[in-house]
Amino acid sequence: NRTWVLRQRPVGDLKDGDLELVESPIPEAGAGEVLVRTIYLSLDPTNRTWMNDTEGYLPPVGLGDPMRGLTLGVVEHSKSERFSPGDLVMPVSGQWAEWAVVPEKGLRKTQKFGDLPLTANLSVLGMTGMTAYFGVTDVCRPKAGETMVISAAAGAVGSIAGQIAKKRGARVIGIAGGPDKCAWLTDELGFDGAVDYKNEDVGQALDRLCPDGIDIDFENVGGDIMSAVWSRMNVFGRIAVCGLISAYNATSAPRAPNFARIITHRLNVRGFLVLDYVGRAAEMAAEMGPWVISGGLKWKVHVEEGIETAPDALKRLFTGRHDGKLLVKVSEE
Ligand code: NDP
Repeated sequence: NRTWVLRQRPVGDLKDGDLELVESPIPEAGAGEVLVRTIYLSLDPTNRTWMNDTEGYLPPVGLGDPMRGLTLGVVEHSKSERFSPGDLVMPVSGQWAEWAVVPEKGLRKTQKFGDLPLTANLSVLGMTGMTAYFGVTDVCRPKAGETMVISAAAGAVGSIAGQIAKKRGARVIGIAGGPDKCAWLTDELGFDGAVDYKNEDVGQALDRLCPDGIDIDFENVGGDIMSAVWSRMNVFGRIAVCGLISAYNATSAPRAPNFARIITHRLNVRGFLVLDYVGRAAEMAAEMGPWVISGGLKWKVHVEEGIETAPDALKRLFTGRHDGKLLVKVSEE
């Protein structure tokens, strides 16, 4: 049984020696366990993040431990009532290994989708498809006519996300590396445009392809590409932070705040302006008025005297030399 074991934490790009292929006898299943022969191992950008000793959505892979990965396999030997030889299964926590003994509770059955190849289970109708489908339908929620930009658009998730968004009526622009990938997006997948980030200026291309700005960003890359999209987002736009692959091999921590936390902690980051609520002032007063009158809500004002004090008073906001809501009293009440 050959298993890839994490020997050292990669610095930057993954290098020879970070992982070691270790041979051992094929393990035997004990009571309630199942011996699984791996058929497919899914390689995902996030695998790289699991090798770092940093806080993520899963604990890091331990040094000396088998590398974690999503796998699809077949039961070869079972000491569980729930699984029989021949069952197709996906371990909840798979390994980069040819064989694995898995406790029955750590295993779920899967089935071929009709005549589709088994690879569909680990791609378009597996985690990749789930990411694209729910990222678009639950997070981005495109409305007909909206412009959506997708980075790493020719990749597994991006290419599917774009097609789903098209089916929901969005105008979809993909960002990908190289003319062939870009041609695939527009000529075969029906994207409305593509930006070849390796051969053209992303910002200029977005200005050309998104003359009315960008309503939705399905972000897979981060860094400079996200920055170019970011500065072209429209009012009430949405950014689905799916992945930040450009940072996964970074040798230094990103500048704060680290957007990775938006993903790992499923943060809902939303800007808002009070201007959007002016029509609802009565709602606020109805609930807060009684709190203020009864003293149940504390409030303070800091009043400076005379219009001439305004510029100096303004500076107080940036030094904190004021106590409560800062006002200038210009004349008598
Ligand atoms: P892909 O098939 O998209 O492969 C990654 C692609 O990213 C590459 O083909 C490459 O495309 C592009 N890429 C890599 N490095 C850079 C870079 N520095 N700048 C720009 N593009 C780069 O992989 P997946 O579809 O599996 O994953 C895509 C993204 O989705 C990743 O960020 C991943 O972490 C994220 N993801 C998130 C999930 C979630 O639950 N939130 C689940 C699954 C994936 P090109 O040739 O165009 O450069």
